[in-house]
Amino acid sequence: MEIIRKLQDMQSRAVDMHQQGKTIAFVPTMGFLHKGHLSLMREGRKRGDILVVSIFVNPAQFGPNEDFDKYPKSFEQDADAAKKEGVDILFNPCKEELYPERYQTYVNVEKLQNYLCGVSRPLHFRGVATVVTKLFNIVKADAAIFGEKDYQQLVVIRQMALDLNLDIEIKGCPIVREPDGVAMSSRNSYLSEKDRKSAVCLYQALNEAKKLVKEGVKKSSEIIMTASALIRSYPGTEIDYISIFDPETLEEIESVEELSRMAMAVRLGETRLIDNILIDPRKKGSRA
Ligand code: AMP
Repeated sequence: MEIIRKLQDMQSRAVDMHQQGKTIAFVPTMGFLHKGHLSLMREGRKRGDILVVSIFVNPAQFGPNEDFDKYPKSFEQDADAAKKEGVDILFNPCKEELYPERYQTYVNVEKLQNYLCGVSRPLHFRGVATVVTKLFNIVKADAAIFGEKDYQQLVVIRQMALDLNLDIEIKGCPIVREPDGVAMSSRNSYLSEKDRKSAVCLYQALNEAKKLVKEGVKKSSEIIMTASALIRSYPGTEIDYISIFDPETLEEIESVEELSRMAMAVRLGETRLIDNILIDPRKKGSRA
């Protein structure tokens, strides 16, 4: 596995690959890799001749009071894990090269960026869309793989690729969970023992919602009320939002009639966790 740090080196390697007729699959990450990231790499292996993974903690997607400075890092372990997954190139650029002095260009996915997580993180998706565009241009990927864990991010990127005519296939992959159902996340490492126990409430609330829908409950407000009560019954939880929405437009829906998505953000101490689930009102009967 090759480790590349300079933008120009990455760009010229990508040009070489294409000249050799090879396709490039790309998995962007912020590092501190876990099994969720590795599942994207496995998908990437299938979607391109060359698999490029980036590790870059993107300052543009963190708000002023967020965790940019303390975001967990483990480059050596990450490099070992990536190598074991058969990654060809680990791209680890530095922020000075990606955002030099006088940097001033940003990508705004005007509507989608404002819903859900965009309410409490107003510049987050602008930062994500910007860095992903830059990375796509540097890595010259033919396909890019993202996790459904960050569902809004996936929808924002798909829209951006469509709107900007990017010639790149965007592939979403299912959420990888811990044995107790907690969605894997680099940020889980921040949780105290007590908060880690409470973290199961997100997936439990999502499953409770799914169960209600299967039993025939349609009203979003009723489903959200039950989910909120379940979350509040766990110590230390503070709900940021819970929403049931159209999976493409992200607009809230009042009644679950079609395939929908439910997402939430919950704070546990200083840590903000997110999770989401597919809600299918057509599948009635058995429990999840
Ligand atoms: P991050 O390093 O948190 O920016 O995530 C990099 C990529 O991994 C994003 O596409 C995430 O959606 C994806 N990802 C993170 N956690 C998970 C998970 N538990 N399951 C599947 N994909 C994930």
